[in-house]
Amino acid sequence: MTGDPLLSISDLRTQFATDRGRVKAVDGVDLTVREGETVGLVGESGSGKSVTALSAMGLVDDPGEIVSGEVKLRSPELAEEFRSRRKNPGFVDGDVVDLTAAPEESLRAVRGGEMSMVFQDPMTSLNPALTVGEQVGESLRLHQYGGRKKDNWLNAVREILPKMGNDLDEQVVERAVEVLSEVGIPEPTTRVDEYPHEFSGGMRQRVLIAIALACRPGLLVADEPTTALDVTIQAQILDLINDLQDELGMSVLMITHDLGVVAETCDRVAVMYAGEIVEEGPVEEIFGNPSHPYTYTLLESIPTEEKERLTPIEGNVPDLIDMPDGCNFAPRCPWAKPECTEGDIPYLQHGPEGVDHRSKCVLDDFDTNEYGEDDALAAADHDVGEPLLETEGLKKHFSRADGLLDEWLGLDGASVKAVDGVDLTVYDGETLGLVGESGCGKSTTGRTLLRLLEPTEGRVVFAGDDLTDLGKDDLRKKRRDMQMIFQDPMSSLDPRMTVGQIVTEPLKIHDLPAEGSGDRSAREQRRERVTELLEAVGLDPNQRARYPHELSGGQRQRVGIARALAVDPDFIVADEPVSALDVSVQAQILNLMEDLQEEFGLTYLFIAHDLSVVRHICDRIAVMYLGEVVEVADTDELFADPKHPYTQALLSAIPEPDPTADTDDRVILEGDVPSPINPPSGCHFRTRCPQVIPPTDVDIDQEAYREVMNLRQRVESRNIDVEAVRAEAAAGPESGANTKAATDGGAPEDRRGTEDGGAPEDRRGTEDGGAPEDRREATDGGAADSAADTGVSSATTDTSGPTNADDDTVATLRERYFEHDLRGENRRVVDAALAALVEGDWETAESTLRERFESVCEREDPELGDEAHPAACHLYDAN
Ligand code: SF4
Ligand code: SF4
Repeated sequence: MTGDPLLSISDLRTQFATDRGRVKAVDGVDLTVREGETVGLVGESGSGKSVTALSAMGLVDDPGEIVSGEVKLRSPELAEEFRSRRKNPGFVDGDVVDLTAAPEESLRAVRGGEMSMVFQDPMTSLNPALTVGEQVGESLRLHQYGGRKKDNWLNAVREILPKMGNDLDEQVVERAVEVLSEVGIPEPTTRVDEYPHEFSGGMRQRVLIAIALACRPGLLVADEPTTALDVTIQAQILDLINDLQDELGMSVLMITHDLGVVAETCDRVAVMYAGEIVEEGPVEEIFGNPSHPYTYTLLESIPTEEKERLTPIEGNVPDLIDMPDGCNFAPRCPWAKPECTEGDIPYLQHGPEGVDHRSKCVLDDFDTNEYGEDDALAAADHDVGEPLLETEGLKKHFSRADGLLDEWLGLDGASVKAVDGVDLTVYDGETLGLVGESGCGKSTTGRTLLRLLEPTEGRVVFAGDDLTDLGKDDLRKKRRDMQMIFQDPMSSLDPRMTVGQIVTEPLKIHDLPAEGSGDRSAREQRRERVTELLEAVGLDPNQRARYPHELSGGQRQRVGIARALAVDPDFIVADEPVSALDVSVQAQILNLMEDLQEEFGLTYLFIAHDLSVVRHICDRIAVMYLGEVVEVADTDELFADPKHPYTQALLSAIPEPDPTADTDDRVILEGDVPSPINPPSGCHFRTRCPQVIPPTDVDIDQEAYREVMNLRQRVESRNIDVEAVRAEAAAGPESGANTKAATDGGAPEDRRGTEDGGAPEDRRGTEDGGAPEDRREATDGGAADSAADTGVSSATTDTSGPTNADDDTVATLRERYFEHDLRGENRRVVDAALAALVEGDWETAESTLRERFESVCEREDPELGDEAHPAACHLYDAN
């Protein structure tokens, strides 16, 4: 349920002064965010959504300025505070604060207090020289604990040499730990003193959210909070924001270009185009009844299961300095009429009566049957032939030795195993997708199989030749047949070369055309070839004299494709070719790649993290995790019946651009991809796998077993702050629930519950890894079975064992690490291990847990078979 307006933006206009004129980044925006609701602000790059948010926060810097409009925040507390500080403040009216009229000093009290912002890139948003505790504490101190650190020489030195002293007072530290715990940072009492570089990307984003939420804001402005994250971590962060919103009752303004994120998280959506809101309404209305041509065409460019062929929006976003008269979308709108380019375009109401759904378009309705017909030819099935490229046991390890001497002396034991034994086959004429999270080794695989990186081990056979045996000259000749398209055309194209020079360069490198071929000079023939190539990729040949910076992102990627095609290759490795592009441009490039495949008989290895794109363009998909391929299948088969638990989690984390989609059974993976320097033994995925296999003789729920394995990982990495737990246990008379609340900082129960992802019972029992009875007896300390059966811990009943204080600590630890039921023997072993921990005996704790709970998944590396749909997972081992 949502309530009264909290933030009201009216007729906001923000402009930036440039040499060419004024950029109208925000041009008359009206937007309201009500109490408790999530409003999505969506649009392509340059639509003005981030500037709208920055304007609302009073964070627009020179050369930008808010030229007109109002931003009002309803906050009785702030209004009262400002009235108490100033006599008759003009920017306060009743409970409402006018942020556009408020002085900077007052805005500082609003930002981070009543309104907080989470930015896209946590690495650049966090201060690398301060601990995360200091950064959360900074916000707390400013808004809740009596002001900023003073600008004196001592604090200045502390900032430069942060280890010299951490002046967070106890209260602030306690609260910072609580907030870090709330956002799911494990062991917050320890991690509060760590620096941002010691956190993974997902954890850094959690820290940013902790800073934003430290002072319990009424409104969280989240600016692309998950864009830099993998889909699995994105699912964790969106889930976290959702839970925290429910718990704290705050409102969220979610800024994103991802329509799937909007569909899943928002109550209402405002679609921005060229500085204006062109459509706004409840999320189901916007997705179910898009009433502005831009919203409709944007939704049509998203790859979905049903679409054989994408329909891109033609043209580019207009120059915000020189806007067209009338409707900004007119130059690209398939339904534009003469009246669209004259005067102001009104907002028309749409949808059922009583629903606030407005669209800035002269049309009540438009005929969607007219749209995309010319281009909606079903993608022709292309012929797939014999294997063109095969890898066997391909490895690429990067040495971490400090220098040649270290390497020579063999001091490079800790190499990064980026690719660790990959067997792949790519068939002639097909598109094979290679997917996985960042750091899984997919790009390194692509580069290694082209021998742009020297393989550490293994073979790459291309068209019958083993590339790893070829000398320099032969390899150069072979490269004519194997080319690459890179992710970011801006950084992969030389900014000092013209388009013509960029596309001609590979021809020169390979001495093409050959001397004496044809009547005309090589120069003329190359010029003709460049013309052909530019036309083939949909560029005007007259653009050959332009430089990359003079082109749009989509045009630059077309140049990158033309360059790859110049030497007429058979095989192209496309490394995230559309991930830097907006969805409408992405559709153009995907269509182009499909057309070129048809025309030139190309074979692609398509590397991507966006699974909906991969689903659209690929015939088969190989899923990578931590340097290994874990599953390969035809695309339809993989999406219909993913076998490997990692693939299942990956597919279930994709946000669907459909607000009615059911996401209740989503698998949200815990944690991050482990380091490739020291990957987990056995199955690399076993540290996160929701279906990790318990020993056959251990009767335990799958969720509880996952928790046992998580505890084991913590014990093995000595990552439990026992002293902090002991202090917490000592703090409360009833150490159980009270201590847990203090430890968890009130984290919602259901969040941790859903993170387990659950797994069916019947997947257990392929291998007996159970500890022998006699060893377990030794572990039990001879506790009576009857006690075990009632679920009472031996550690809490054995009076000759630990003291009561230690019992409390064991109970607190158990409550901290287990949400699911542990009974009988399982509980007794866990308690015995925890009791050892409390006594500081980590080795005993480790071995006690291992003896009972060791899984086949950690002992044996699962093999990827050679059947039609193989998955490297012990769940599919033959019994
Ligand atoms: S006003 Fe005209 S040009 Fe603009 S979206 Fe509507 S129909 Fe298209
Ligand atoms: S082998 Fe075990 S840990 Fe690995 S994916 Fe299969 S069930 Fe999970």
